[in-house]
Amino acid sequence: MVDVVIVGSVALDTVKTPFGKVDDALGGAATFASFAASFFAKPGIVAVVGSDFPQQHLQLLKSRGIDLKGVCVEGLTFRWEGYYEYDMNEAKTIKTELGSFASFRPQLPEDYREAEYVFLANIDPELQLNVLNQIKKPKLTVMDTMNYWIQNKREKLMEVVKKADVLLLNDSEARQLFSTPNLVRAANEALKLGPKYVIIKKGEHGALMFSGSTHFNAPGYPLENVRDPTGSGDSFAGAFIGYIAKTKDASERSIRKAIIYGSSVASFNAEDFSLDRLKQITAPDIEGRYREFGSMREF
Ligand code: AMP
Repeated sequence: MVDVVIVGSVALDTVKTPFGKVDDALGGAATFASFAASFFAKPGIVAVVGSDFPQQHLQLLKSRGIDLKGVCVEGLTFRWEGYYEYDMNEAKTIKTELGSFASFRPQLPEDYREAEYVFLANIDPELQLNVLNQIKKPKLTVMDTMNYWIQNKREKLMEVVKKADVLLLNDSEARQLFSTPNLVRAANEALKLGPKYVIIKKGEHGALMFSGSTHFNAPGYPLENVRDPTGSGDSFAGAFIGYIAKTKDASERSIRKAIIYGSSVASFNAEDFSLDRLKQITAPDIEGRYREFGSMREF
């Protein structure tokens, strides 16, 4: 039985930053999210990879206890190519090849249908809806997206927003989706559609959480060594839902703690390319940074 079902891309990424480049490295929103969630709970991925996807990547995910029954093998793997300039808060996309994701229609394994915690990571909103409709009674559904889907599938995306409990967006996506430069206004528009919480990620500057009546402001971790932020948003989300699934507590207090765990894992992820840094860290490293966040806010 898995604790958290995660649907999203499992990908091969080609990424260039001012600090280096990788070609066809392990990436994808569901990959980062499930790896981050695995520090707290047992995730299961719903995705498709091609026959060109290296076995060693699947082995790595398995070694973290991630369930892969929901991963099909068909056609060619999703590929993303992008780069960052010195402002590493914004990825610039060079190329997206959907591969077998373009026609993927998942049939969820029976035990995934009973899952209580669901993360709809960044992927075609039709696929997010398809997966959500197969899960019987989720206690908490968290969703993410990106500019590609806001531009290309806006209406379907809005249907997903209406069904989610927590909407995660980065600041530029929030402005784009709700056609306003003001993040508070964007969050309030989102809350009117149904989510109980809206979390706006601001890259290295932290994250803002809005509920109907309260808000919370998490700082960014002051990292001196940022090599590649790819997947930090997904690592944030994975650790966030992993913590909620572990504690089975979705109160606002727990949501605030989950945001700090998310920020902690996301900051580690940015220290190296692909999953290279997440592969090295352990639960005590995450706890240590979680506590540092606490002391950063005392005055
Ligand atoms: P982020 O956490 O926002 O940095 O997400 C980066 C990951 O998103 C990369 O590993 C990409 O493989 C993946 N990605 C990029 N474009 C898309 C897309 N259009 N749909 C799904 N996943 C994508």
